[in-house]
Amino acid sequence: GHCTTVCPTGALTLKPTLPHVYRAIHDPELTVVAQIAPAVRAAFREYYAIDAADVMPVLSAGLKQLGFDYVFDTCWAADLTIMEEGTEFLSRLAEGGVLPQITSCCPAWVNYCEKMAPDILPHLSSCKSPQQMFGAVMKQYFAKQLNVRPELLYFVSIMPCNAKKYEAKRPEFQTDGIPDVDMVLTTNDVIAMFRERHIDPHVLSPVPLDDLFGKVSGAGIIFGASGGVAEAALRLAAERVTGRRMEGFAYEGVRGLQGVKETTVVLGDSQVRLAVVSGLQNAQNLIDRIRSGDAPYDLIEVMACPGGCINGSGNPAPLLTSDTEQRLDVLYRLDEDAAIRTSQDNPSVQDIYANWLGQPYSEISHHALHTTYRRRSMRVQETAEKPREQMPVIE
Ligand code: SF4
Repeated sequence: GHCTTVCPTGALTLKPTLPHVYRAIHDPELTVVAQIAPAVRAAFREYYAIDAADVMPVLSAGLKQLGFDYVFDTCWAADLTIMEEGTEFLSRLAEGGVLPQITSCCPAWVNYCEKMAPDILPHLSSCKSPQQMFGAVMKQYFAKQLNVRPELLYFVSIMPCNAKKYEAKRPEFQTDGIPDVDMVLTTNDVIAMFRERHIDPHVLSPVPLDDLFGKVSGAGIIFGASGGVAEAALRLAAERVTGRRMEGFAYEGVRGLQGVKETTVVLGDSQVRLAVVSGLQNAQNLIDRIRSGDAPYDLIEVMACPGGCINGSGNPAPLLTSDTEQRLDVLYRLDEDAAIRTSQDNPSVQDIYANWLGQPYSEISHHALHTTYRRRSMRVQETAEKPREQMPVIE
């Protein structure tokens, strides 16, 4: 229809994605690669009632049948994010940088901050989200390994999240005019594609994820739950600060579905004060506390969706509270069973530093894996001075 009203959330600019993806997988010139976010597996397991351990190989088999050439796990890029974000945190602690450092991997939260609380932006980690870090790795590194021109590598994200569609279209997430992530599908989109193409996950033979980025850590997997990013960062910080290998990996204080969690963790001689919030009302309350000087934390994790990405709007809606609890459980069980528990132990993450990036937080990392934020305030007195910014159109 011809809609002339302005939609404050940008939802009216959402356009169907599936035709673009079908077109790409049928284009013989393109190498089509998928990444699957941590929280997708929990919803997928629930929807099709498959074993948690089989979800990723089954999903990978289905995507290959659809025509994808390579399938990777966004948890790999979550590990990379922790290398960068954990190092950023330790350097802010050591050099008296802006604290608390606040996570920036949820684009709905970043968007909220840019519009409603630009004074908080210096607290945000400069790290791109795992989705966007993986996009940069694809176009700047993997394309070279394959000997493919970056514009002929078509990278599709499978996310629990509609805000990720907007994130992928942000102009800063392009390299030489080529988007790092070409298209974002939600879990619901993939379920629809499987239905349209008569792909039944119950009869698929599992296919392992592709090499090179095939190994992921438990720390990357728990990114899908509220508190997971903070815990993954702690697993890095603890080893870096104490100089010792960890014996236990669980930080119970940041786990669970409560909208606000606070805990203090002792690392050697120092203490790290953490807050984990999910839900935008809780985030707004936290902003108010930071403004009034009543937020005595070093590190804060914020997710817009209550409970984190497991409850994202691109996942099927949980019908019962117990569904959400089970999704959480799935991620923590996969973490417990993982052969690698910390991001720094991921061998292919170590390889990418050896082969390309050098050190975490290096100049190359900064260029490829970090970003900046800017005020996008909608307040009346500022819109009078500045022309209104065009929101990117989401296709
Ligand atoms: Fe998307 Fe929600 Fe996760 Fe934020 S918390 S990244 S909005 S699914």
